[in-house]
Amino acid sequence: MTLSNANAPALHDVAIIGCGPAGATLANLLAQRGLSVLVLEREAEIYSLPRAIHFDGECMRVFQAIGVAETLRPQLLVSPGMKFVDAEGHVLIDWSRPQQVGPQGWHVSYRFHQPVFEGVLRQRLATHPNIDLRLRHDVFSIEPQADGVRLRVEDMRSGRLYHTAARYVVGCDGARSLVRRFMGTELDDLQSHERWLVLDVLLKRPRPDLGDHSIQFCDPRRPSTYVRGVGERRRWELMLMPGDDPATITRPEHVWPLLARWVTPDDATLERPAVYTFHSVVARGWRNGRLLIAGDAAHQTPPFMGQGMCAGVRDVANLAWKLADVVQGVAPDSLLDSYERERSPHVREFIETAVRLGGVIQATDPAQVARRNAEMTANPQVFHTPQPALGPGAHDGGAFGGRIAPQPVFDDGSRFDDAIGDRFALVVRPDLQAAATALAGSRAVVVPATNAVLQAWLAGFDAAAVLVRPDRYIAGTATDEATLCSLLQRQLGRVAA
Ligand SMILES: Cc1cc2nc3c(=O)[nH]c(=O)nc-3n(C[C@H](O)[C@H](O)[C@H](O)COP(=O)(O)OP(=O)(O)OC[C@H]3O[C@@H](n4cnc5c(N)ncnc54)[C@H](O)[C@@H]3O)c2cc1C
Repeated sequence: MTLSNANAPALHDVAIIGCGPAGATLANLLAQRGLSVLVLEREAEIYSLPRAIHFDGECMRVFQAIGVAETLRPQLLVSPGMKFVDAEGHVLIDWSRPQQVGPQGWHVSYRFHQPVFEGVLRQRLATHPNIDLRLRHDVFSIEPQADGVRLRVEDMRSGRLYHTAARYVVGCDGARSLVRRFMGTELDDLQSHERWLVLDVLLKRPRPDLGDHSIQFCDPRRPSTYVRGVGERRRWELMLMPGDDPATITRPEHVWPLLARWVTPDDATLERPAVYTFHSVVARGWRNGRLLIAGDAAHQTPPFMGQGMCAGVRDVANLAWKLADVVQGVAPDSLLDSYERERSPHVREFIETAVRLGGVIQATDPAQVARRNAEMTANPQVFHTPQPALGPGAHDGGAFGGRIAPQPVFDDGSRFDDAIGDRFALVVRPDLQAAATALAGSRAVVVPATNAVLQAWLAGFDAAAVLVRPDRYIAGTATDEATLCSLLQRQLGRVAA
């Protein structure tokens, strides 16, 4: 059966199910490449329960790419990082963050308020006439066809059932993903599923004594986390202990005694309490034909590194240019197979690290805690954020291929990515400019390294040319015209089958 007949519904290039951070970012990325994008979201409003509070400089670079970084910036707080302390306050792990702009051209770590941030993404969606966002539309059936995918949808405002269709469908539909289930994809269990109480409060008066660092209180009596949010927002996360009743612990009469060592109702109002189970899973099978998954649909992590949403943003940055190239006939459909191969090992490293950190925080066995404290207080660890390479895929691997490229910031404050747009960029030694332009054709923008900033950037790769993909990961490097020619053939020479 095909969708290309007179009675078929309009065929969108891509339908995205779910308009959380992953879906909204993907829609913006695809729309600016000119694709027709349908976004189906069952909720009427942006989700308001406490969730992400931190994102990193690489995410900010994706937000730069979709044109919202400057809108977001005044609503962010540059994070000084996190400390892990024992019950007596001795430092076990120091994960402080620099306060200067980092290699991504942005600060390495930001705090934010997820509902406000999602509002900014939605405002941006509204500027793209090629995005059809349908709120209160619930997808309940997915039927892959030869040339597209038919979706069965309920318009929840009226109860009307209808069908619609797209060439590709991306499930950005969260942890309980319907798309993942239709794909028959299983989850790899990374063996950490702890229940925590998450409390967002609004301070009524300044409390500088609480501090700006996030603190992981590795206290076996009740492992807890404090996070300074933006403005007056503060968050505490408290592990549920034996004897806690998850159904009642969110009541004010239980919450305030738990918060008493930090704040009382005189200091703050309780905005949102919620109990979450922090899962650690990675899906095995992110693509099945024309169906794909991204974000929490593809993986979930305990929030100890603040990386769940960040991983979803990286997913969609990886997927967007590939989908656009495939839909626009610039690349074969098989390019989409590189998506999971590249992203899965990358996100797995973050989740496994978060699970390890969770093991430090969540330890309650007295002997284990005593050993941990003795070892770590004697020699506190300085923690550095992992920077894994992508798994094998649409890049050359080696020392640089598959690694995120730093973003040059020029003397006038402008950033490299803004001059490039959503294209491949080929940064070359000036003597190779003419050859590079002839070889790359319209597939990449050629940038001669004519100023000191770009020369220093290029020198960092010990190369004469560096090919950067639209998601800012490095496709490969070349040392002369011959190796440049083969690099471009390998990485840009793909044509639709
Ligand atoms: C307490 C806590 C703290 C966290 N802290 C951080 C942090 O500091 N940093 C960080 O990076 N991450 C953090 N995270 C994780 C982060 O919040 C999630 O990873 C992120 O929100 C997932 O985004 P998503 O777009 O993949 O999914 P979601 O935000 O879950 O969006 C999925 C959307 O799909 C819609 N949907 C589902 N099914 C259908 C359907 N059939 N039809 C139509 N619509 C559908 C849903 O209504 C929903 O809007 C935290 C999470 C928690 C719980």
